[in-house]
Amino acid sequence: MSSHPFDTGTAAHCPFMPVFGAPGVMFVRGEGTTLWDSTGQEYLDFLGGLAVIALGHANPVVAQALSSQASTLVHVSNLFANDQATAAAIEINRVLKRSTGVDGQVFLSNSGAEANEAALKLARKFGGRGRHAVISAYGSFHGRTLATLAATGQPAKHEPFHPLPDGFRYAPYNDIDALAAAVDPTVSAVLLEPVQGEGGVIPADVGYLRAVRQLCDERGMLLIIDEIQTGFGRTGTWFGFEHAGIAPDVVTMAKALGNGFPVGATWARTDVAATFQPGDHGSTYSGTALAGAVVRAVIGEMERLNAPALATERGIELTAKLSATPGVAAVRGSGLLIAAELDQGIDAKQVAATLLANGLVVNAVTPTALRLAPPLTVSSDEIDRAVAKIAAAIS
Ligand code: PLP
Repeated sequence: MSSHPFDTGTAAHCPFMPVFGAPGVMFVRGEGTTLWDSTGQEYLDFLGGLAVIALGHANPVVAQALSSQASTLVHVSNLFANDQATAAAIEINRVLKRSTGVDGQVFLSNSGAEANEAALKLARKFGGRGRHAVISAYGSFHGRTLATLAATGQPAKHEPFHPLPDGFRYAPYNDIDALAAAVDPTVSAVLLEPVQGEGGVIPADVGYLRAVRQLCDERGMLLIIDEIQTGFGRTGTWFGFEHAGIAPDVVTMAKALGNGFPVGATWARTDVAATFQPGDHGSTYSGTALAGAVVRAVIGEMERLNAPALATERGIELTAKLSATPGVAAVRGSGLLIAAELDQGIDAKQVAATLLANGLVVNAVTPTALRLAPPLTVSSDEIDRAVAKIAAAIS
C-alpha cells in the first residue's frame, strides 16, 4: 500500500483542494503535547496546531464540555438567545475588561478571518462614507477572505486575487513615522498584531504600540489589535497588547479561544460596538451553544492554570535552552510564541522536515527560522526532549 497519507485503501485520489501543499503525516490522536500518526509514531507537538492548542490536545475539561453540550443543545438561530453563547460573551468581555479597563460587546464567529472581517466592517461603518480606509503593517497576516487578505500586508499573497476590496494601505511595522505619514482623512482604523506571527514572530516595540495608540486618539481612528495568534496567554499576558500597557478599541480573537474547536470573537468598546445595528452583520453559526460551552471551558481552565504565567515560565526555559543550542543564532518572541533564527546557511525548512521525521512538530516560519508555539501546558521535560531533537537535527 502507498505511504501517501490520503491513501486509505478506499480513496483513489486526494479529496482536498490543493491549497495546503503535500501533507507529510496523517495524525490520528493527541493528548497534551503528544501526537500520534496513522503508523503509530509519536511526536511532540511544538506547533500546537499553529498556536491553537494552548491547553493541550484532547484536553479533558474541554472534551467534557463539548460532549455534554453536544447532547444538550448544539444550535438555535440568532432570532433567539442561548445560555452558553451568552455566558461565553460575558466571559470574553470580563477578561477584556480586566485587560483594557472598559466594558465592551462581542460578536462570535468561527475563525480568525471572520473575527477580523467583522472588525473591518465595524471600522468602515464607524468611519462612515469616505472614511473607510484601514492601515495595517507590511509583513502582517490577518486572514484569507478577500477583505482580510487585502488587510494582510504581503503583496505577493494578493497577486492572484486582484482586484481586492479597496481601502487598504500598509506601513512598515514598528515605524511610527511611516504610519503617521500614511494617515489621511479617509482612514478610520489601524489594524496591528502585537507580535507578527506568520510574518516571522516579530514583536511590536512597546514604544511603537504606545505611539500608535496616541496617534489613533489624536486622529480619531480606531485601534484594532489582532490577538488571533497572541491572545489568551500565549505571550505571557492575557493579550499581547498588555505588554505595552495600552487599551485597543477593538480586539479580535480565535485560535486558543476554542483549543481546536472553530470559534472566533470580535470585541469592541461598547460605544464603538454600538455602530453596528441589527442587520449590519451576522452568521448562521455566530454563537452556537456548542461553541459557547467550549469557550467557557477554555477560559475557565486557562484561569485555573494561570495560562499567561505558564507561558512566561516555560517561555523563559525554552528561550534559554534554544539560545544555548549550537546552530541557533538568536531567539525572539514573547512567552511561548518563539522563533529560533538559525545560523547562516542552515535551511529551516530542511531542519523542520528532519524534526518531523524524528518526532517533533515545528514549522519554518521563514527560510531561516523555526517557529515554536507548544501548548502552554508543556512540561520542562518535554522542552528538554524537544531542544535535544533540535540540536540533533541541526548538527
Ligand atoms: N490573524 C492572525 C494574526 C493569524 O495568525 C491568523 C491565522 O494564522 C489569522 C488572523 C486568520 O485566522 P484563521 O486562519 O482562523 O482564519
